[in-house]
Amino acid sequence: RPRAGIVVTGTEVLTGRVADRNGPWLAEQLRTAGVDVAQVIVVGDRPDDLRHTLGFLAGSGVDLVVTSGGLGPTEDDLTAQVVADFQGRPVAVDEQWATRIGEIVARLSAGRGWRLDPEATRTATREQAAVPDGAGVLAPVGTAPGLVVPVAAGRTGPPVVVLPGPPRELQPMWPAALDHPAVRAALGAPDELRQRTLRLWGTPESELTAVLRDEHDRLDGLEITTCLRDGELEIVARYAPAAQPAYDRLTALVGDRFADTLFSPDGRTIDELVADLLREHGLTIATAESCTAGLLAGRLTELPGSSAYVLGGLVVYSNAAKHDLAGVSTELIDRVGAVSAEVAEALARGARERLGTDVGVGVTGVAGPGGGTPDKPVGLVHFCVSTPSTTLARAVTLPGDRADVRARSVVLALHLVRA
Ligand code: ATP
Ligand code: MG
Repeated sequence: RPRAGIVVTGTEVLTGRVADRNGPWLAEQLRTAGVDVAQVIVVGDRPDDLRHTLGFLAGSGVDLVVTSGGLGPTEDDLTAQVVADFQGRPVAVDEQWATRIGEIVARLSAGRGWRLDPEATRTATREQAAVPDGAGVLAPVGTAPGLVVPVAAGRTGPPVVVLPGPPRELQPMWPAALDHPAVRAALGAPDELRQRTLRLWGTPESELTAVLRDEHDRLDGLEITTCLRDGELEIVARYAPAAQPAYDRLTALVGDRFADTLFSPDGRTIDELVADLLREHGLTIATAESCTAGLLAGRLTELPGSSAYVLGGLVVYSNAAKHDLAGVSTELIDRVGAVSAEVAEALARGARERLGTDVGVGVTGVAGPGGGTPDKPVGLVHFCVSTPSTTLARAVTLPGDRADVRARSVVLALHLVRA
């Protein structure tokens, strides 16, 4: 199988000020295109470091290198120049592109109400239109065009695809990059691979891997990876079409051994399943959240079209807010405490009644790090899902820090809604 290396550039990514979204995204795209990713390397905005990284990747024998970042008009944007030097190709301003980029810059800045210094803009535009000799140009989404830079004639080495840093510019450019003749030649005709996902809720990873190990022989031809996230266990299988029977054996096996915890045999996420459930039954939902303070409502509205079933949510962090917004009785809170099954139920009912929905969800817990007591430790969270005819309650003590507890609470609440 062809192999590729990814270079993510940018001091802001190297120092952790910006979380890398391009490396993982490109890795996934390459995987689905049947290309193995050998490395994802992060380098700062230093030409020497980028040069050494390119040297390392070319030396390691990858078939393709993809870079992100450093294509803009500013001082630290050096990727195109470094890659051109590395591939042995001189750079020249492409007048046609300079004009086109100038038009884009003018349109974008007019849209934002900016007035630009024409001279500075012209210089910046011309820098962005500097194209290595013999390189393919990928039409810009923002102002920076991408590049496909093959190695100079008479030398060997992988072509380098140069993409801009902002994910919303990089992602739309990717199909054209993959389709470029130099890239296709480098990757050959990749094998068709299928990728399928199964999702479990409540099975420890060790139990699953033990079963997979025992059945190893019957699962020949599958490349299986498992991943535990916020209490959900994800199984991803990649395989050539010929191994479909082995995949069918895997789904039968998991469906049999983990019948209670396999919530998604078709790979749909819990978010999608909840959305589909509410939509199918024509139900509306609202939340009243204490320790998650709106994270659940936010999550419910991440999918487009959620306005069809999400009516709203109450962020009720203080006891006063629980009373004033969700109608929880002050006497009840004083008697049993804000983190209790009773208050979770009152919150769920309050959300449903105040917002006039079919389903109400209440969440109240101790996210930590402070606030825990012996009988109400950090991580204790009470949930309730209320409808006019049913009440479903649950209490758990979740491991992890504050962010973990809150993230897991959201996932658990979604699973409870679906139950
Ligand atoms: P620009 O024309 O915007 O300068 P560029 O190609 O030069 O584009 P960079 O300067 O490297 O890109 O990055 C611009 C911004 O894009 C960064 O400040 C950051 O917000 C975002 N960005 C860059 N790389 C990444 C990445 N790997 N993951 C997430 N965001 C990124
Ligand atoms: Mg930049």
